[in-house]
Amino acid sequence: MDTPMKLVVVGAAGRMGRTLIKLISETEGVVLHAAVERARSAFVGQDAGELAGVPKLGVALTDDPLAAFVHADGVIDFTTPASTVEFAALAAQARIVHVIGTTGCLPEHEEKIDAAARHARVVKSGNMSLGVNLLSVLIKQAARALEASGWDIEVLEMHHKHKVDAPSGTALLLGEAAAEGRDISLANHSVRVRDGHTGPREEGSIGFATLRGGSVIGEHQVLFASEGETVTLSHSATDRSLFARGALKAATWARDKKPGRYTMLDVLGLNSTP
Ligand code: NAD
Repeated sequence: MDTPMKLVVVGAAGRMGRTLIKLISETEGVVLHAAVERARSAFVGQDAGELAGVPKLGVALTDDPLAAFVHADGVIDFTTPASTVEFAALAAQARIVHVIGTTGCLPEHEEKIDAAARHARVVKSGNMSLGVNLLSVLIKQAARALEASGWDIEVLEMHHKHKVDAPSGTALLLGEAAAEGRDISLANHSVRVRDGHTGPREEGSIGFATLRGGSVIGEHQVLFASEGETVTLSHSATDRSLFARGALKAATWARDKKPGRYTMLDVLGLNSTP
């Protein structure tokens, strides 16, 4: 039997970080090796288990990612784009698995993550859940089947009031799937904001609408609207542990893979779907 996979949680005191620590402590085959927070965070030194609301784990939060990564097998990262780029370089140096859930990455961040993936096994996805990844496959099929001339695509999302990036990583992932189904580039066809006298909707565009409020974990709808009928494909997340479970699955899946960049579609075996 394999030895348990030694995992580092970065962003350990965050919403996802705490959820991950709890789940790792309850899951066989993985063990919390280290928990990392920002330098000067008030949580550095605190026991990770205590922070996550489970019994003490004997792992104190550290602000030294380099030392944390050296003897680890993988790192799970739900932080910020700038931090994720730094962690990617360290994970590449340590030649370990890097599971990235951070959203809001710009092309310059993606380039650095690509470079790190020459040495690390990187799994990155805007959404780690089985449901959303399956939904993306269905959206790609629907976008292909429903012609651009008659069917307009709009993506609607709502998240809690603390979320700092928009549209959500999931909304962009679903928009990408729709664009792939239509054989167009999302970057050239997306409409992120509408305000004032916008003129009529441009045919073939993919529109996004963002709502923020309360404690909503993640609501997404993709609407295909034509003259007289609308098809809506949707997903609701009701518990953040959903994303943590996906991230742990990604980490253990990537353990024996070659260095490179992977997505949750690879982890879930959904990539061969046309
Ligand atoms: P959060 O703000 O609650 O937590 C982020 C944590 O990262 C904070 O505690 C912060 O101090 C820490 N951090 C930032 N930079 C750091 C650094 N350099 N070193 C150590 N710690 C650092 O945010 P959250 O709700 O947990 O979400 C985090 C990210 O994950 C966001 O980008 C969010 O959109 C994304 N997310 C993705 C998925 C998915 O399935 N892909 C699901 C949920 C959230």
